[in-house]
Amino acid sequence: MVRMEPTLGLFARARFLFLPLFLSAILILFCPNPAKADDVTSTLVVGASRIDVTIDTSQSPISQPDVMKWVQNAAESVTAYYGRFPVPHLTLRVISFDGSGVQHGMTWARGGGLIRIRVGGKTSPAEFADDWMLTHEMIHLAFPSMADEHHWIEEGLSVYVEPIARIRAGHWTALQMWRDLVRDMPKGQPQEGDAGLDHTHTWGRTYWGGALFAFVADVQIRKQTKNKKGLEDALRGILDAGGDIREDWDIEKALKTGDQAAGVDVLEKLYAAWKDKPVQVDLGTMWKELGVAGSGGALTLQEDAPLSAVRQALVMGTAGAKAARAGAPDGQNFRAANSASASPRAVFAGRTMRSE
Ligand SMILES: [Zn+2]
Repeated sequence: MVRMEPTLGLFARARFLFLPLFLSAILILFCPNPAKADDVTSTLVVGASRIDVTIDTSQSPISQPDVMKWVQNAAESVTAYYGRFPVPHLTLRVISFDGSGVQHGMTWARGGGLIRIRVGGKTSPAEFADDWMLTHEMIHLAFPSMADEHHWIEEGLSVYVEPIARIRAGHWTALQMWRDLVRDMPKGQPQEGDAGLDHTHTWGRTYWGGALFAFVADVQIRKQTKNKKGLEDALRGILDAGGDIREDWDIEKALKTGDQAAGVDVLEKLYAAWKDKPVQVDLGTMWKELGVAGSGGALTLQEDAPLSAVRQALVMGTAGAKAARAGAPDGQNFRAANSASASPRAVFAGRTMRSE
């Protein structure tokens, strides 16, 4: 009994001291991302999906309408590429900082999909419109979670699909995209000592090596299917088979599912060739065949190259490219042409909560 006293006393004090912690543990259990004092939460409905946006303004005030417009544009871009928003529910935590620009996006499977991203309170509407990072993060939602050595395909797909998705929703142009690809794709080529994508975990090979894989696969799928299918058909097939970020899949299963959806064996063969060996891509020949000439401000898109039609379809989708051949050049806003493939506009459901 005597020995019990200090124990009981300790327990009594401890329970009191730890009560707030204990309560917060329960809150975390039932509400994975509890809103803090300076948070504003708004909800965006995109088709059948819901995006809860929490804006942490503790470091800097930030324009809620600007943030919501930016979230809406990114959600519409991803929806335009995949035909729907990838997961039923996303929690998006925006953390403000004193400054401008968008930084440090990260995406997790947690809670059905969670993105954390930092936004400067001085970010201008033009900077929001130029941002690629949020679209990149949302694209991560549309592919199953991979083992560490296959991180390159998760990043590569996000890098490659992001500008295309934004173009399809009218938020970027083909000319801007090709300028960036001509400048950046060489960063994905194997360097000395490279042991293939599964074994070379450098920044260049993870992000741009993965993007190079996606780009070469897209062109090959389009060539093999006489331009009727593209990488998007493979990726939509993976998503439709349940392969979103909430699922852990083997890379083999993902690539096989994608190939079956596109009716090809491009992804599996390319992976077999690239996973353990450095494979240089003849980018010069690819640009030429696709009708991408020059670079930077002098870059032009040519309509009489052998793969000009592939280039258009790659950027705009099969339906969008058809409309382009009927008049509008690629690089124009062709939201109307794409509307046949049903990209539901995001609906801002209004501010739902301010927690204080
Ligand atoms: Zn990423």
